[in-house]
Amino acid sequence: MYYRPNTLHEAMDTLSRHGGQILSGGTDFFPALGEHPVSTPVVDISGVGELRGISIEADHIRIGGLTTWTEVLRSPLPRCFDGLQSAAREVGSIQIQNRGTVAGNLCNASPAADGVPPLLVLNASVELVSHQGTRNLALSDFILGNRKTARRPDELLSAVIVPREVDDGRSVFLKLGSRRYLVISIVMVAAVVQVDGSGRVAQARVGVGSCSAVARRLAELERALAGAWAVRGISERVLPEHLANLTPIDDVRATAEYRRDAAWTLVKRALEQCVEAP
Ligand SMILES: Cc1cc2nc3c(=O)[nH]c(=O)nc-3n(C[C@H](O)[C@H](O)[C@H](O)COP(=O)(O)OP(=O)(O)OC[C@H]3O[C@@H](n4cnc5c(N)ncnc54)[C@H](O)[C@@H]3O)c2cc1C
Repeated sequence: MYYRPNTLHEAMDTLSRHGGQILSGGTDFFPALGEHPVSTPVVDISGVGELRGISIEADHIRIGGLTTWTEVLRSPLPRCFDGLQSAAREVGSIQIQNRGTVAGNLCNASPAADGVPPLLVLNASVELVSHQGTRNLALSDFILGNRKTARRPDELLSAVIVPREVDDGRSVFLKLGSRRYLVISIVMVAAVVQVDGSGRVAQARVGVGSCSAVARRLAELERALAGAWAVRGISERVLPEHLANLTPIDDVRATAEYRRDAAWTLVKRALEQCVEAP
């Protein structure tokens, strides 16, 4: 059965009564079917107006559950979102960015999902709604593994919430693929650096994707960077042990060794770009 609810209430009702798979932009959903026809009910949420748009509130920014990558990259957002906007520009092609949503990227939970590292370094959380109520989960608690999330079958991701903690932080997203365009990431790195009045790092956050089942923050490195002068050469503080929690695999796109090496280079590069003027 195919359902196309027009309101959030209707969508939750449909999910609780019939279950089934949520369909949003369909850019992961349809390729995942391969040769097989759809075998479960489908709840197409693309008509649910309440899930559209980005709103800027006093203490957080709300990215509605139907927000596409194109909307992310075209919206005026604080500087710390530069990394997320760069990621938006690198998701597939323009056609994919026009259809694909941030929520779909997170719910699909691919280790190579480009949206995850930039949202992890923004301390994003997800809002999940169902007939039983609304709950918020830190993004780091939402994605549990390769294609595995904490979403219950009757829940819908209604928004991504980003607290406004580092609005003026400089942020970067770097992606390495086997070619420049329309490519699945071999490694990607997101970083946000906030500098205090004396020119030292007040806060640095670094996330690496495609080097573990779920993208990871480099907490040890973040601690080592706090208080450092935010100037060229900052990347000399990066030590091999700071990347020790990465667990890259060998696959068709790259060897584990290559991934680890590339992650090291991209982390250093991202930090240098974060402290470059202006
Ligand atoms: C040619 C091509 C290139 C691509 N390139 C990239 C790339 O470079 N980087 C990248 O990261 N991804 C890429 N993708 C994957 C995809 O485009 C993105 O992950 C996109 O953001 C998925 O969003 P969607 O709205 O299309 O999700 P859908 O396909 O509609 O859904 C994906 C999954 O999430 C679930 N879902 C969707 N929305 C919700 C919701 N609101 N609540 C609960 N569950 C939900 C669905 O049930 C499904 O399991 C590419 C895909 C294609 C086809």
